[in-house]
Amino acid sequence: MTGFRDARTLDTATVLEPDLAIIGGGPAGISLALSLAGTKLNILLLESGGENFESQNQKMYAGSIGEQSYIALDAGRLRFLGGGTNHWGGWCRPMDEIDFEARSWMPHSGWPFPRKALEPYFPRAQALVEAGPWIYDQKGDAETASRGSVLPLGKGGLYTSWFQFSKMRGDVLPTQFGKRYKDELTRAANITPLLQANITAIRLSPDARRVERLDVATFESNGGAGKRFTVRPRFVVLAAGGMENARLLLASNDVMKAGVGNQNDLVGRFFADNPIPRDVATLVSFAGPLAPFYGSNQKLDDGAIMRATFAPTAAFCRSAQVAGSLSTIEQPIELDDLGKAAVVTTAIALGVDASNAKAYSLGCGMELTPDPDRRLTLTGEKDSLGLPRLKLEMRIADEEFARYRRTLGEMGRQLLASGTGMLRIDKHSRDDWMKTMDWGHHHVGTTRMHADPKQGVVNADSRVHGLSNLYIAGSSVFPTYGASNPTMNLIALTLRLADHLKKVTA
Ligand SMILES: Cc1cc2nc3c(=O)[nH]c(=O)nc-3n(C[C@H](O)[C@H](O)[C@H](O)COP(=O)(O)OP(=O)(O)OC[C@H]3O[C@@H](n4cnc5c(N)ncnc54)[C@H](O)[C@@H]3O)c2cc1C
Repeated sequence: MTGFRDARTLDTATVLEPDLAIIGGGPAGISLALSLAGTKLNILLLESGGENFESQNQKMYAGSIGEQSYIALDAGRLRFLGGGTNHWGGWCRPMDEIDFEARSWMPHSGWPFPRKALEPYFPRAQALVEAGPWIYDQKGDAETASRGSVLPLGKGGLYTSWFQFSKMRGDVLPTQFGKRYKDELTRAANITPLLQANITAIRLSPDARRVERLDVATFESNGGAGKRFTVRPRFVVLAAGGMENARLLLASNDVMKAGVGNQNDLVGRFFADNPIPRDVATLVSFAGPLAPFYGSNQKLDDGAIMRATFAPTAAFCRSAQVAGSLSTIEQPIELDDLGKAAVVTTAIALGVDASNAKAYSLGCGMELTPDPDRRLTLTGEKDSLGLPRLKLEMRIADEEFARYRRTLGEMGRQLLASGTGMLRIDKHSRDDWMKTMDWGHHHVGTTRMHADPKQGVVNADSRVHGLSNLYIAGSSVFPTYGASNPTMNLIALTLRLADHLKKVTA
């Protein structure tokens, strides 16, 4: 079995018996397969879609949303080879050390291992997303020095941090994993990518100790139901995305009545995303325009693409009990009369020259705190292959905004203390925040990782508690989320899983 195949060409009675079945050909599934290329494992990469968008496949992602508005479930993800990377923004930043820590004031926080455990996998993850040399905070200020100065913030809780970007092909698109890695997958003699293969159930052994088989279904090209066949793998990795991983586990409920891995009612709970409220504050730089890397992506000579952001230090997060946040300059704006007067009077009071002052609107990517009631459940409605659809109960507590206001307050204090500028918070009520709310489309948390089966769906090796041969890859296993974009991080975690699989399958 090698090279790409189309599941619609298989006979209904087919039984495939790979060593490892990977469910999902997004960045997690593709990175996992590639990192096991050339091993003795016979790998089947099962992808629901084909190489391009098809509406019959996409419709299987439709679901409903509770009271709190959120993006339609079939709008924030894509169901074909490459998954979300077919429309991602390419923003990359490694998670911070504090993102892995149990924070006393943040219930349910903490990973079963520190950031150090992922660090060996960052370089390869960075290479897979094609974000150029590893610069970020390590050398960000130095690398961009020729393009302007970092805004002096003075001593305090916020500092200038750095994003990097997946290579912008032709300066238009970041790396799309399906198209970019198709040839590598084809060349790998031990990998068979099977397109148009929808997993409809994960079937357990009667003692609920291992996955026995996977049910697979196809559509006919006219949209009608097609073939049904079976995969009997030794090992399974579920890599179907942050929402679909939970859906497949919950819907596979013939042996474990609450769903696979859901013996402690955790699957689908703790869903999170990074809220991206726009126009949260007005930042004024007294000395004139900020360096260009604050407001737009800058391509360096070595090909790295970088952009500055304001991040809280770990010490400030701990002392002020705030979550992660990455505040970015959105665009230059004209101050209103009140704003102009405030700049003049503040500059006089500080004894600084603000005659060239320039104002900007500030946006942010926030970290949500874990909430068991922010959750995905199954509904009675089914998709065209018979799988129950999802309902998302989104929640965002007022306290999340209050915390981020504390971060903005600290930034304002630092600007004044250093005499470099000032900041006005422009959001005063929950309605204000929600009016300009965007989301990162970062689906995390629904199959959380914890050493204790009562608190997590997977253990520190990403294996589903209680099952010997089922693993989960992707950001659904993140127990705490951070404000960094998840994809480069989830790939690093997937590469760590690949190393583990090499050992346990040997
Ligand atoms: C508009 C947008 C912008 C984004 N921008 C960024 C960004 O700038 N930076 C960042 O880090 N992240 C970004 N993301 C998030 C990023 O896309 C995801 O983190 C990433 O794609 C998740 O990878 P994954 O492989 O876990 O899941 P997915 O990419 O969702 O891949 C899952 C794959 O599984 C397949 N599948 C699903 N169900 C089944 C099934 N039953 N059987 C077989 N196959 C199945 C799907 O077809 C899909 O190919 C963005 C997302 C969106 C929507």
